[in-house]
Amino acid sequence: MAKKISIFGSTGSIGSSTLALVESCPDRFDVHVLVAGNGAEFLAEQALRHRPAYVGLASDENADVLREALKGSGIEIVVGDRACTALAREPVDVVVAGIVGLAGLPSVMAALETGQTVALANKESLVSAGALVTATAAQKGARLLPVDSEHSAIFQCWLGWAGHAGSGQASLPSDTGAIRHICLTASGGPFRDLPLERFSKITPAQAVRHPNWSMGQKISVDSATMMNKGLEVIEAAWFFGLEDDQIDVLIHPQVAIHGMVYFNDGSVIGQLGTADMKTPISYALAWPDRLNWDPEPLDLVTMGRLDFAAVDERRYPCFRLARQALSSGGVLPAVLNAANEVAVGAFLDGRIEFVDIAGIVEQCLQRPPDGDLETLAAVLDIDARTREIANICLP
Ligand code: NDP
Repeated sequence: MAKKISIFGSTGSIGSSTLALVESCPDRFDVHVLVAGNGAEFLAEQALRHRPAYVGLASDENADVLREALKGSGIEIVVGDRACTALAREPVDVVVAGIVGLAGLPSVMAALETGQTVALANKESLVSAGALVTATAAQKGARLLPVDSEHSAIFQCWLGWAGHAGSGQASLPSDTGAIRHICLTASGGPFRDLPLERFSKITPAQAVRHPNWSMGQKISVDSATMMNKGLEVIEAAWFFGLEDDQIDVLIHPQVAIHGMVYFNDGSVIGQLGTADMKTPISYALAWPDRLNWDPEPLDLVTMGRLDFAAVDERRYPCFRLARQALSSGGVLPAVLNAANEVAVGAFLDGRIEFVDIAGIVEQCLQRPPDGDLETLAAVLDIDARTREIANICLP
């Protein structure tokens, strides 16, 4: 039977890859909801092609464009905050959380509160609100499935060891005792070999040109600073219930291996695949099965070699800051995320230099706002107040 799915962030890179999978396997999925931020024209195009019951647009700026394009289609339109909350409560088999940034948190929470299965690409939700998100999932019997390729890799290695699909929050065996540590791989981004003295000249166009992956602008810049890998370390801590010193990162330029689990008996299980997000997305959509969407096979002969190196924190200060935020805990991961979103936005707008991103995040981490992360409102409050501080820090 076809799985009913909702896609939040359908007009983005994750959303478009998800819809490409739906088109490859039309009998397997029935698109129920599509939600975007502001891209009304593209959303309308997707809606007319996939015929969901509902479309949602978070911003009302282009709502008339959407209404006009979908006139007479019978597709119901929801505009504003309700697009990310009411539509996330629509019962489906899988909710794909592909909105970028903390803007994705309300839809993730609404989906989990109604006990749904969430295929989580929106790592910022777990970074800023990991305790709240995982506790809500556990309380409501909801399930979080990883979409990030590295987390999908760890999930698959861990399940492979358990020998079954398991059940529970992240569907993993709850006993982490057999695991020594995990390792997430990182390409090192476009500036892996750039001399450090040339970092001040990096332009937004260069920063979004990732050597291996095709992604949205924000995550591409995060990959260039390696903040992305730092966010992924925090994401992994929540997903898999691990301590920060159980999560290693290795630079691996070919990105053939996405993640490895090191066991206490000396065994290491790794997952390999091409650098195509459709593979981990397909696994989250089809779980506990696999989807044959006719991918290009991984060609190790052409690749010829696999290289590995430790992370140089002088080259990637954002990675160091993310690890510090995880080990210090409290509100700091949420502060890190909010400050980074402001700094990356300012860099993409040409208001700051690439090398300023880490400095702005560091300043915000040094003066975090008072508060906690116990409720959605509290998380959004810490996020908003950090953004104010970060904006003051912009040169
Ligand atoms: P994109 O920038 O390509 O797409 C973002 C999507 O979010 C768009 O559909 C956008 O709509 C929507 N959006 C933005 N703001 C809002 C809002 N306030 N309310 C509702 N929708 C909104 O991002 P990516 O697809 O690259 O990334 C999405 C998430 O997935 C991120 O958290 C990223 O870290 C994660 N991820 C992405 C990977 C990738 O390969 N791209 C890999 C692993 C994780 P519109 O453009 O119409 O305004």
